[in-house]
Amino acid sequence: MAAYNRHNMINKGLLIILSGPSGVGKGTVRQKVMEDQTLNLAYSVSLTTRKPREGEVDGKDYFFVSEKEFKQRIKEGQLLEFTHFVKHSYGTPKDYVEKLRNEGKNVLLEIEINGAQQVMRAMKKQKEKPVSIFILPPSIEELERRIRGRCTECEAAIQERLKQAKAELKLSEHYQYRVINDTLEDCAQQIIRIIHNEILKHSK
Ligand code: 5GP
Repeated sequence: MAAYNRHNMINKGLLIILSGPSGVGKGTVRQKVMEDQTLNLAYSVSLTTRKPREGEVDGKDYFFVSEKEFKQRIKEGQLLEFTHFVKHSYGTPKDYVEKLRNEGKNVLLEIEINGAQQVMRAMKKQKEKPVSIFILPPSIEELERRIRGRCTECEAAIQERLKQAKAELKLSEHYQYRVINDTLEDCAQQIIRIIHNEILKHSK
């Protein structure tokens, strides 16, 4: 349910950025948080040039587009942010996010760190402030274990991801909130609490 202000108009929804290094479990945490119906969340479906994985649905998990279409969207200024990540492009469609927020939805972006920084900069220019949440691994050793667990890549690629993740962890200080993903349940509950509080602040 959208929230109404004292003029009986729909309150524009929040923009919530969920970010963190590769392998930290952003996707799983996001799915768990989205289960909470009281938060009035809408997931910002990104554009990507990568091919769908088994079970992924166009328009639900991603909008799967060609390289050519992606470049066209950039050219036309249709992306709120975009990045190149492990051989593919990913981006957030600007109009789609705005439409959802204008309908009063609290829009959740689950994006990597470079894109998150772009969104924070873009919002600052508009004198708006997103709710920014950085997910941290319990330790570097655990992050390495997780990256190795799902990486089918060679040692050099694993080392590259780890190096990048370590550099990215330093950027966590730019975020309003930092949450450790020790257990999925705990991490999701902390994020749900953060969003609840932000909704309360926003509706005052
Ligand atoms: P995957 O290919 O595993 O679905 O996603 C790879 C990475 O891209 C993940 O870290 C995910 O959070 C990030 N990602 C997904 N959509 C976007 C987007 O629109 N913008 C940015 N910057 N990153 C994204």
